[in-house]
Amino acid sequence: MKDRYDMFVDGRSVPAKSGGYFAVENPAKGETATMVAEGKAEDIDWAVAVGKQAFRDGRWSRMEPRQRARILNRAAQGLLDAADELAEIETISTGRPIREMQAQIRRVPEWLEYFGALIQAAEGSVPPFAGAYLNYVRRLPLGVVGQLTPWNHPLLIAMKKVAPALAAGNSLVVKPSELAPVAVIELARICAEAGVPKGVFNVVPGFGPNAGKALSEHPGLAKLDLTGGTPTGRAVAAAAGRNLIRVTAELGGKAPVLIFDDADLDAAIDGATFAAFIASGQTCVQGARLLVQASIADEVTRRFVDKVRSIRIGDPMDPHTQLGPLVSRNQLERVSGFIDGARREGAEVVCGGVRPISPNLQKGYFYEPTVVASVAPSMTIVREEIFGPVTVILPFTDEQHAIDLANDSPYGLAAAVWTRDVKRAHRVAQSLEAGVVWINDHHRIDPASPWGGFKDSGIGRENGWEALREYTQTQSIIVNLDPAPFDWYGSDSGQRYS
Ligand code: NDP
Repeated sequence: MKDRYDMFVDGRSVPAKSGGYFAVENPAKGETATMVAEGKAEDIDWAVAVGKQAFRDGRWSRMEPRQRARILNRAAQGLLDAADELAEIETISTGRPIREMQAQIRRVPEWLEYFGALIQAAEGSVPPFAGAYLNYVRRLPLGVVGQLTPWNHPLLIAMKKVAPALAAGNSLVVKPSELAPVAVIELARICAEAGVPKGVFNVVPGFGPNAGKALSEHPGLAKLDLTGGTPTGRAVAAAAGRNLIRVTAELGGKAPVLIFDDADLDAAIDGATFAAFIASGQTCVQGARLLVQASIADEVTRRFVDKVRSIRIGDPMDPHTQLGPLVSRNQLERVSGFIDGARREGAEVVCGGVRPISPNLQKGYFYEPTVVASVAPSMTIVREEIFGPVTVILPFTDEQHAIDLANDSPYGLAAAVWTRDVKRAHRVAQSLEAGVVWINDHHRIDPASPWGGFKDSGIGRENGWEALREYTQTQSIIVNLDPAPFDWYGSDSGQRYS
């Protein structure tokens, strides 16, 4: 990690117009890790103008898809070459253990490869237009798109948006989270080095209420794409509505993990632990509600708590560490506030619920992995997204009760079903109000597989053909093939009406 990072606009690193910088903190140490240029509305204006110029002159938007794909593949290789450095940047700025970031970052280039392949395979269509007409439909890029990204998987989530947007030929202005902007700035630099022309991929770091708001309200955009909290999603979607542009929003969640009494319990308990505590629980698909069949609830609770107690908390740069700190002091206070509230509401904190006592963890924002039982479905801790290392356990009596509990949430992003019964697995999965359902697993993602939420968890989908379609628009070209003359005003007979 360098001492200072600038914005990346028009193919180069540049300071913000105000000349200001803000501090990015290392949450494991509670100290400044680096300084980053603080972009504001005037920088967003400039980046959108630069993006628009690039889009209009066709340097990327009209480049042959095959050539764009070659450049995206070179960028994928550039990312792989920089994987160690990027993993370190992500660990330092988010506190996520280096073993997690090493594993995650090595998959991120797949998105560039996948969408590079897709854009070469994309075909238009020839609808059966009635009469002597040829109608062909092209898919074209949209223009300049604004992307707002969060801090929990800074590079992966940015990549889910950047790869389809670039493959389709759009220009981009990305506003990464103020807590972890560096890897996204580095991604733009790597893409430029791979051959993405200047002005196409711009990154303006800054604060949500300033640079983020300016980007979401900018009249020069053709689409907004946000991953963030549900309240931010509503604000950004409202701004998109006012400008009559498309919006994709990947928002909060409260994923249920359903464990049936016929499940492989060793696998289910390992899976539920992975679901709840990877990234210190700071993931939108975190297994936040463990729903366990009543007949096995005591056994599962006991074995789950034993497993959770074995998680190694520590310095995230240590390859043996399994759980790092929360991303910020705010996040730590938010999580401990939820636990205090749960205790007041009468829930039982079965393990965790405190900061670790180890003296060398006191400066960072560490919190023990926490399991809460004796909860009612109406309690705040069961209903609201905590975004931390906390999961609640609720027993269910039968399949319908499990489905009812799982669906009793304003969110609908993800869910998991653990059972050995194939029929039950699919029956339950198909009854769940969730955009992504895993059977006997959790957290699995692939650039080819649609990702997004039902209900308050969002609008639109990332990944797969759907993402490419959401970053393109159709143009329908209708060709008259009829050799007969057409003169609407010349005669009253034999006119065509369509
Ligand atoms: P936020 O909603 O706070 O922020 C997301 C992005 O939007 C950041 O870049 C932020 O900037 C910016 N932003 C904040 N306020 C505004 C505003 N008024 N106008 C425009 N932009 C704004 O989310 P977090 O970064 O805290 O991420 C956590 C949330 O993201 C959780 O709710 C989680 O569930 C959700 N999430 C969803 C995922 C999904 O795939 N559905 C995946 C991962 C996370 P800044 O950081 O500077 O405030």
